[in-house]
Formats: sequence, structure tokens, C-alpha cells
Amino acid sequence: MSTLVSNIGLLVTHDGPERSDAALVIDAGRVAWVGASKHAPAADDLVDAAGGCVIPGFVDSHSHLVFAGDRADEFEARMAGTRYQAGGIRRTVRLTRDATDEQLLANATRLVAEMCAQGTTTVEIKTGYGLTVDDEARSARLASTLTEEVTFLGAHVVPEGIGRETYLDLVTGPMLSACAPFAKWIDVFCDRGAFDVDEARRVILAGQAAGLGARMHGAQLAPSGAVRLAVDLGAASVDHCTHLEQRDIDALAGADTVATLLPGVEFSTRSPYPDARRLVDAGATVALASDCNPGSSFTTSMPFVVALAVREMGLTAAEALWAATAGGARALRRDDVGHLRIGAQADLIVLDAPSYVHLAYRPGVPLVKRVISSQSST
Ligand SMILES: [Zn+2]
Repeated sequence: MSTLVSNIGLLVTHDGPERSDAALVIDAGRVAWVGASKHAPAADDLVDAAGGCVIPGFVDSHSHLVFAGDRADEFEARMAGTRYQAGGIRRTVRLTRDATDEQLLANATRLVAEMCAQGTTTVEIKTGYGLTVDDEARSARLASTLTEEVTFLGAHVVPEGIGRETYLDLVTGPMLSACAPFAKWIDVFCDRGAFDVDEARRVILAGQAAGLGARMHGAQLAPSGAVRLAVDLGAASVDHCTHLEQRDIDALAGADTVATLLPGVEFSTRSPYPDARRLVDAGATVALASDCNPGSSFTTSMPFVVALAVREMGLTAAEALWAATAGGARALRRDDVGHLRIGAQADLIVLDAPSYVHLAYRPGVPLVKRVISSQSST
């Protein structure tokens, strides 16, 4: 079964220059041909892009979708002047533990559908609101029914009613063993008020020994050694990167560790944005993701994240688009998504706009006209 996407006003593949008046052929879920409209071969099926821009599907490499309840009241209070504090996670933990599997899966499925409708075709999902062996394993199992990019984040916070050392023994022992069969990644929240660098190292090394790849939450709330630790341990990504020192930027420059920026958090907590411009100029690889979670960034919209990156973080629209697609793929160590080279997964978006610049230029407008996904969840 082949499909011709024709009449593309502007095509971005991340493989060579942007093409105008282009076409693209999909065969068996892969990109099979890219070229000028007038040379397009015949196919079984036709999608008319109507002169719109076609871009790779978004790769949202950081989200927390397995949870119950919401925290709209906390957001409202924060907007009225109360400062953000990390303790709200524990409230979501209580609600998540009390929810049934069906409730958790229904909520996560609804959020994934929201993401897809806005152009996300690959999503990573973290655990981290269970924080017992059984509840974390349940979260990982439910997430694994929605994506292959599952991350075990038992080291989100130390839950109530257990000592710090006892909890770390659990996270690096029985909880890890229970979650690893469903997970590809291990993560730790290494920040002020969360886990320190030595604790984070212990968590990551245990995960790597269990066969998981490393990713980290770091430098969201304050500078620390988190970014350098992530680079030292060969993490695929260090996420947030809001408070960086020069030595952090130096470590990220040219490293395989991607700096994943999550500006929905700064928006929703009314905090200063990370300096994406400085990272790109230094030679770091930057990704953009939603961090969708009920506390600090309850958005599923990658177009919104792109708009923030352009408006608030100094990226050009082209850089922001790259970071939200190819950058996210790098952060997940994937080379089959995030671009539209021949052979790539045929995950793409037809925009109701002549250029991807409109994603930032027309914020909040539903410009994603059609999503074509090799996972067929369009
Ligand atoms: Zn997060």
C-alpha cells in the first residue's frame, strides 16, 4: 500500500534544503520517495497537501502521562502569586495510587490522543507517580501499552512514610527489577529539594547495570552537578537545563548527551526560560519536549512549545522545528524518526499553513491539518 502526498508547498525533511512544490511517497509505512511534484510517481492512495507545509511528526521525548487527578487549583494559586514548590508531586502520587488501572490507562490514552492530534507521532512516557514497587511497575506496564519509549522514574521524589536511604535501596533494587521489563530508560530528578548528585549517580548506574539507557532531570530549579553527571554517565539526554553554568554548557557542547528544554514548565510556573540560543551557539544538541504532567506543565502541544522556544528562548523557527523533531529523536537515540529521509518512518504532519514559521507566528491556532503516522494512530 503506497500513498502519494502531493502539492506540498514547502517540505522539510531535515535531509538537505527545504523544498518548495514537492511531493513525497510512503510505501509500507516508510518514506520511499521525495522530489518535485511534477516528477511524482503514481501511488495507490493520494493525500493532497493543498499547498501546505509538510514537516516530520513531532518527537515528544519527555512526558509524565500515567497519573490521576489534576492540580488546576495549584496552578491558579501560583498565577495569583504563590511560589512553585516541588511537594505537589506527592498529591498526584496519592491520587495515582488510589486510581484503577482502567482509570490510569484511560487518562493516559486521552492525553496521547491529544498529542497525536497536534502532530506528535513519537512519545516518551515516564513513571514516577506510583513510588512503591507495585505502583511503579503498574505505571511502567500501562505506559508500555502506549509507547516503546518507557522511562522508569522511581527517583522522582522520596514519598511520604519512608526513609531516604531505604527508598533509594528500593529504587535501585526491587523497584528497578519490577519495572525494567517494561522500560527502556532510567531517569532521576537531580535538583535542589530532590536527589543530589551522588544519589543520582547511584540510581543511574543501577539502571544501566539492569540494561536501561540513562536520562536525567537536571538544573530545573538550581545549578548543580546534574548536567555534568549526565554527560559523564553517557546519558542520552539531560532535561530542563534552565539553570546552567558555563562549565555545564562546555560539557554539553559536542557531547552525545542532548540538552532537552521544556519551556511549558517555565510558562506554567512563571519562571525564567532556559537560554536555548547560548546552547545552540556553543554546539550543544538541543531538543524540545512538552514535559506534560499535571503539576508544572499540563500541555500536550508541541506547536505551543515551538512557539515558546521562538518567542522566549531565542531559537529561529527552523531551529525550534529541528529541536522538536530531530532533536527529540536524538534524545531518544532514534534514527528512524524525527526526519523524512528515504527509509524513515513515515510520520509526518500536513500544516494548514504555507510554512512551519506559522507554528510560532500564529500561536494557539490549530494548524495541524492532518497527521500521518506509521503507527496508524492519526
Ligand atoms: Zn519531567
